[in-house]
Amino acid sequence: MNITIIGSGYVGLVTGACLAELGNTVFCLDVDARKVAMLNGGEVPIYEPGLKDIIERNRAAGRLLFSTDVKAGVAHGDIQFIAVGTPPDEDGSADLSHVLAAARNIGRHMDRFKVIVNKSTVPVGTVQRVRQAVAEELAQRDLPRLEFAVVSNPEFLKEGSAVEDFMHPDRIVIGVEDNATGTRAQSLMRAVYAPFTRNHERTFYMDVISAELTKYAANAMLATRISFMNELANLADKVGADIELVRQGIGSDPRIGYSFLYAGTGYGGSCFPKDVQALSRVAARFGHTLNVLDAVDAVNDSQKRVLAEKIVDCFGDDLSGRTFALWGLAFKPNTDDMREAPSRVLIRELLTRGARIRAHDPVAMPEAQHVLARDFADAPRLLEHISYVGRSMDALTDADALVIVTEWKAFRSPDFAAIKAGLRQPLIFDGRNLYDPAQMREAGIDYRAIGRSSRMPSPPPLPSCEPIAGAHNAAWS
Ligand code: NAD
Repeated sequence: MNITIIGSGYVGLVTGACLAELGNTVFCLDVDARKVAMLNGGEVPIYEPGLKDIIERNRAAGRLLFSTDVKAGVAHGDIQFIAVGTPPDEDGSADLSHVLAAARNIGRHMDRFKVIVNKSTVPVGTVQRVRQAVAEELAQRDLPRLEFAVVSNPEFLKEGSAVEDFMHPDRIVIGVEDNATGTRAQSLMRAVYAPFTRNHERTFYMDVISAELTKYAANAMLATRISFMNELANLADKVGADIELVRQGIGSDPRIGYSFLYAGTGYGGSCFPKDVQALSRVAARFGHTLNVLDAVDAVNDSQKRVLAEKIVDCFGDDLSGRTFALWGLAFKPNTDDMREAPSRVLIRELLTRGARIRAHDPVAMPEAQHVLARDFADAPRLLEHISYVGRSMDALTDADALVIVTEWKAFRSPDFAAIKAGLRQPLIFDGRNLYDPAQMREAGIDYRAIGRSSRMPSPPPLPSCEPIAGAHNAAWS
């Protein structure tokens, strides 16, 4: 089948590459000429496990094309997937300008029946707005009777395992309109996704509004679980409980399950923060308040500052003269995505208090430099106090503490003796609860995690956080 994907970002590129891998001929269209040139030059602009190989293979086979040529892109695909960004508007609602621009481009150039698929995450009612944008363009061209269908097909892939998720989806949600073009669209969509449902049916056909709401509901539920656990972790810190034990205790209930119950430094990325806010705005438009979601958002905002608060509790508000080793910049492992990453909040809190940072991330350092240059446009000199190192252990040199922000696998079993020897004092702030507090105690490391106060070593009195001039670890061993 000939398929066009509009937008070659995390979702568009993965969708395009995977559909090409299944034998379709896929035209990936993007407005970003630099991105298209990179892709045509064999480079992949994002880090996503397995993606580069699939792109290379299918480009070589002539099944995957990258271009900025809108007219050719619209001509190519019987199905046009819209996978452009839907960033938050000023009030938190989804900015649909890219989606509607893509829709208008289709209306401006289409000359036969097209199925237009909203793969971007969009508020309820967007299928209708896309339909209207396309219809207006067709009317301008005196083609008001040229038929097309608009379908909602939200994407559930996760960054970091996007290729795997796309190739083995746990569900495919397809919302079609209840009319003749909707039926025609449904059979084309069935054909596109047939290779994914050979083993068993996993497609849910529904009306378009339910499909649009399903995507927001899924992300809102996951974000709610995270904020719930973060609130409980903060309580656990106060009452002397270990949130990890609580997690296991409740996760064993099959009605609850273990997934997405980890306390940490808050959720980030391109989806949860904006989708939670956008769903609240959708509700407000209909005169409805989603009290739970407003709280989920507020809890997450403050959770992103929890690590900084723990550091300030230890070292005081003035961090000048302090250096922190920071492990992990990306909003989660296996991606270089820095959108809404908790590390950005932490870095601002530390640098504005005068600290220095030595940071390491397995893949996100180039993207972090790019993003932080924008974040600190108001105070670019502060960025002179952050440096990046290629090896995690090199971040420890002259650092007063190690701070862990992203749970990359490579950070799970480090050489604790080397950490202890490398730091000025054996102190770890763990925003992802990676280690066993008892093991840390045995290793002589002061371990401050999220919601685990009961199993942490009794913290030494505040003055112990002072760096020890000239002697590594003296006060701690
Ligand atoms: P992205 O920012 O990585 O990519 C969007 C791409 O669209 C960019 O390359 C941009 O240049 C291009 N673009 C913008 N306007 C265009 C136009 N008019 N024509 C052609 N190209 C255009 O975004 P993303 O992370 O891939 O997200 C895309 C959508 O999918 C969003 O709505 C997002 O919420 C949703 N989504 C994202 C994820 C995820 O994990 N990233 C998962 C599921 C759903």
